[in-house]
Amino acid sequence: MDHKTSAIILAGGKGTRIGGDTPKQYLNIGGYPLIYYSLKAFSDSPVDEIILVCGKGDADYCSSEIVDKYGFNKVRSIVTGGSERYHSVYNGLEAIRRISGEDNGVPCDYVFIHDGARPFVDDDIIMRAYNAAVEYGAAVVALPASDTVKVSDDNGFAAQTLPRSRVWLMQTPQVFDFDEIYDSYSRLAESEAELSDKGVVVTDDAMVLELFSDKKVRFVEGSRRNIKVTTPEDLELVNYYLAREVV
Ligand code: C5P
Repeated sequence: MDHKTSAIILAGGKGTRIGGDTPKQYLNIGGYPLIYYSLKAFSDSPVDEIILVCGKGDADYCSSEIVDKYGFNKVRSIVTGGSERYHSVYNGLEAIRRISGEDNGVPCDYVFIHDGARPFVDDDIIMRAYNAAVEYGAAVVALPASDTVKVSDDNGFAAQTLPRSRVWLMQTPQVFDFDEIYDSYSRLAESEAELSDKGVVVTDDAMVLELFSDKKVRFVEGSRRNIKVTTPEDLELVNYYLAREVV
């Protein structure tokens, strides 16, 4: 990579939809905690440094049982997340600024923001997203929809059908010019109450740029394997893919 790059890997969620007491990012899958796989992918990639965002009270566990244990030397900082995903991202962005200050340097040029619950991110996806971010300033990994997407009214009846050829389902990583995404996230922090009054729910990073900047976000094709583990069925799929990789 021709630029300084950082990756924020998010593992600050509660992961309650999966069931059980252990947050999904620490579940043992194929002999490793789920979060291991995305840390490994970014560690093996040309990305320069990694910020791991974990849940409140989990930093020691992540440090000794994951980062040190598996020798993830690119992890420069482990920070605690917040109650919503966008709080966790903002904490990660702040950590990048803090580290660059400690190094007497400047923050990275481009930042990757990745859901730690997506274990099958790989080098191809990382490079495709990086190249598009360099060309367009912002790029998000996404999949063209294969199902028809409809929007419901307040009572669960079909209200609108979106043109399928233009519908994309968002994945991660999402990659941004650091200064631009930091600026947009800072504005989000200032306008959180106002947005919530309007019923706006921030569910990905591209949306923050859409709301607070005039920059365009380019779609980059992801992969069907790049799933986000959310339900027990997703875990079965992850085990299936892992078993195929071993053979
Ligand atoms: O909840 P969901 O699966 O959409 O979360 C996507 C990613 O964001 C997960 O890796 C999760 O750990 C992370 N997250 C976070 N802080 C939150 C909520 C989610 O870091 N408050």
